[in-house]
Amino acid sequence: MMGSDHFVSYFAKSYAQARNHFEQAAQKLGCEITSYRNPARGKDGEPLTTDTCYLGPETPQKCVIVCSGTHGVEGYFGSGCQVTWLQELGKQPLPTGLGILFIHAINPHGFSWSRRVTEDNVDLNRNFINHQAGIYPENHGYEQLAPYAVPSHWEGPQKDQTDQYLLAFAKEHGESQLTQALAGGQYHFPQGLFYGGNRPTWSNQTLLSIASTLPPSVEEVVFIDLHSGFGEYGMAQLFYDPIQEQIERCQIIFDPARDGLDISLPQSSGAYVTPGDTNSALTHHLSNKVVTPVCIECGTVSIPELLNTLRVEASWHIYGNRHSDFAPQIQQAMTRAFYPDDPEWKLDIWKAIQYVIHAAVEAPKFA
Ligand SMILES: [Zn+2]
Repeated sequence: MMGSDHFVSYFAKSYAQARNHFEQAAQKLGCEITSYRNPARGKDGEPLTTDTCYLGPETPQKCVIVCSGTHGVEGYFGSGCQVTWLQELGKQPLPTGLGILFIHAINPHGFSWSRRVTEDNVDLNRNFINHQAGIYPENHGYEQLAPYAVPSHWEGPQKDQTDQYLLAFAKEHGESQLTQALAGGQYHFPQGLFYGGNRPTWSNQTLLSIASTLPPSVEEVVFIDLHSGFGEYGMAQLFYDPIQEQIERCQIIFDPARDGLDISLPQSSGAYVTPGDTNSALTHHLSNKVVTPVCIECGTVSIPELLNTLRVEASWHIYGNRHSDFAPQIQQAMTRAFYPDDPEWKLDIWKAIQYVIHAAVEAPKFA
């Protein structure tokens, strides 16, 4: 196994550094980078791009796609795992007819600003719905909670009052209903939490454009979307849509018994239901191929801590100032929730991601 200093150096401290690591790792393998320019600017004024690199034959039959940064700030750990794979395993031969495509920082603005959302406050994983139809999923729980979800003060008595309101809601309806109401996605409060947007956001369009570049020879796709912030600390969980054929394929592809790795398969223990995620988007967009999309969640903090962090961060983002005294505290809370400063966490997570990619690469073909 690689030395830990060496390993940790693949995990970046800024978006610009992550992008640099990715570029260097790809170049070392003689891999060309394709960049998609986001119109906004990063936290330090830097240009923002989603970058891809592809390894494999020109006309593969199967393609494994590994995507980082759907939720911006979660791109830190996702990028670290992508770069580690390229650096440590990128030279290994792939099975015949198989290619692997890395999508780096699909939401580069959220990544650079250490936010979960895109430049337009959209939760990308709630944005892939039919906007043309103009009919949006209702979330009555969020409607009730909206004035308290993002408080006008991120600390002090006003903030405490909003906490009391949420606690009362949980007491009346149950903790999981509170989570579902806050995190399930909503389409009517553009400054609120887990806002799904009212048009396809830039990252949505970019992901679908990238998927459209797959050559017609590709019959099968396994899509792996890398997430953090949900689940037990240092543990990885796989989630997939409740579509029977996909469940059956996932159970064959990611059978943990095969390699004896400690990764929990699936399912929705404590998870909330979300419309418009990347998994359903890819299934829909590539409907002429056999698509098996999964989301891997890497655990950090508890759900109440996660939700409180996001509420405080959103409040501060709207009403605060990024040069204020409170800025380091926000940064710290976001790091704890999405990118723990802990080499052991990174190593455990990398092992799980490595297993998942390996399983997708080595799995029997379904097309
Ligand atoms: Zn996520």
